[in-house]
Amino acid sequence: MSAAPPQGRVIWFTGLSGAGKSTLAGALYAELQRRGERVELLDGDAVRENLSRGLGFSREDRDTNVRRIAFVAGLLARHGVTVLVSAISPYRGTRDAVLAELPSSLEVFVDAPLDVVTQRDVKGLYLRALAGEIEHFTGVSDPYEAPIRPALHLRTDLRSVDACLTELLTLLEVRDVAHA
Ligand code: ADP
Repeated sequence: MSAAPPQGRVIWFTGLSGAGKSTLAGALYAELQRRGERVELLDGDAVRENLSRGLGFSREDRDTNVRRIAFVAGLLARHGVTVLVSAISPYRGTRDAVLAELPSSLEVFVDAPLDVVTQRDVKGLYLRALAGEIEHFTGVSDPYEAPIRPALHLRTDLRSVDACLTELLTLLEVRDVAHA
């Protein structure tokens, strides 16, 4: 019989739309892959196209979306995969609950002020939300509850992508040493 796979880990990126979750999760994904790690990316937008198709943006639907992502992340982590989750996941209580259930999970708060993410307006949604054209838009017409004690707090308006990536890699190294 072969040995059980080593326990994976889940790195959960939370923050406003446009804060930099996908960018940083993607950069970390590429680096971990380059190092030969087993790594998977669960991106909020892709999940909503597939696993959570049909869900809306009510509190209940957002929580369902987060719980589904956590479920899949847990399955992958059980098989030794490092799972990078990039999802707004706006409700602290729900995040705390799902992260507490996941083995070796780390919460990363990807943070930039509302005026910065509005200026970036990566998907062109903030202008529409501010014009009242989109209901339940996080940060504008829907709440975002910031983490209180994240494993890492990255201010993406103050640090470059590379600097944030370095912090993420250091976090993983420290965590791995602690769990060795
Ligand atoms: P989210 O996934 O949180 O909605 P995205 O990653 O899609 O956000 O978009 C973030 C935008 O901010 C990108 O255009 C990215 O190039 C830019 N950006 C600037 N600085 C940073 C940084 N330090 N980390 C991540 N993204 C950054």
